[in-house]
Amino acid sequence: MILDGKAVAETVKADVATRVAALNQRGVSVGLATVLVGDDPASHVYVRSKRRTAEATGINSFHHELPANTPQRDIEALIEQLNADPAVDGILVQLPLPHGLDSDRITELIDPSKDADGLHPFNLGLLVLGRDGLTPCTPTGVLRILEHYGIEISGKNVVIVGRSFLVGRPQALLMIQKGADATVTIAHSRTNDLAAVCRGADIIVAAVGVPKLIGAGHVSPGAVVIDVGINRTDDGLVGDVDFDAVQDIVSAITPVPGGVGPMTVAMLMHNTVTAAEWRAAGG
Ligand code: NAD
Repeated sequence: MILDGKAVAETVKADVATRVAALNQRGVSVGLATVLVGDDPASHVYVRSKRRTAEATGINSFHHELPANTPQRDIEALIEQLNADPAVDGILVQLPLPHGLDSDRITELIDPSKDADGLHPFNLGLLVLGRDGLTPCTPTGVLRILEHYGIEISGKNVVIVGRSFLVGRPQALLMIQKGADATVTIAHSRTNDLAAVCRGADIIVAAVGVPKLIGAGHVSPGAVVIDVGINRTDDGLVGDVDFDAVQDIVSAITPVPGGVGPMTVAMLMHNTVTAAEWRAAGG
């Protein structure tokens, strides 16, 4: 089975649009501010797609594009202005920022209640504690895909390959929450015999950034494979999984593109409308 992230993302976006419309009916608008610094082509593509999706779901998009040599203090001043702006419910600073800028400091300046990316240390802390907060978009999107297709993770062995703060770590935290109840192993660049570790998995989440790292020797028959990787190669966009080599062994797999990528954008809108609802409720 091919897990169609694009189709699942459409259902998330439809839900977001309904919630935005309900807020609008109460006189509450929903706004997402995007901040793009420098001229990294991939970042421009991602931000364009996020702005378009915001507009398609009824979310007002406020875009701020700054040159690569913008001083740190100017970006910080912009974040403070967006924090104070009642029209802005979500703030997204597209990472990575150009060399020389302190992205940790900039991320930490975002009001956690407007942290549409779910990457503020406060929100990551809530995730560790198992309390409600805005959760990182990509790993939350992975869970949504599994839920959508009725793939149970409770009690299952999940191997997450990659320990980044953006994907691997929060993915593990989300999957061990009460109610999700997976048994999680996090593998990384220092893991011994990655293939053997992965063969023990009912579900593999690959978030590595190495094209086609996960091959036929890494998967057990019937495993579910979620490929988070997006690698630009001469052959176009390629995941971290060798799709052709594993597709006949596994029971379900996400393609690249059209798998996790669209979910990340959809979950950003989900976080933005959630933030707006909390604000409207006085939270
Ligand atoms: P990262 O570079 O921050 O982390 C990669 C992780 O992989 C590290 O923890 C490292 O220990 C591990 N790793 C590296 N080589 C390994 C190896 N040979 N064996 C085992 N583990 C290894 O990357 P990231 O930000 O987590 O992104 C990972 C991939 O996911 C990239 O391709 C990125 O483009 C993609 N990504 C996709 C989305 C999406 O929306 N689909 C979102 C974020 C990231």
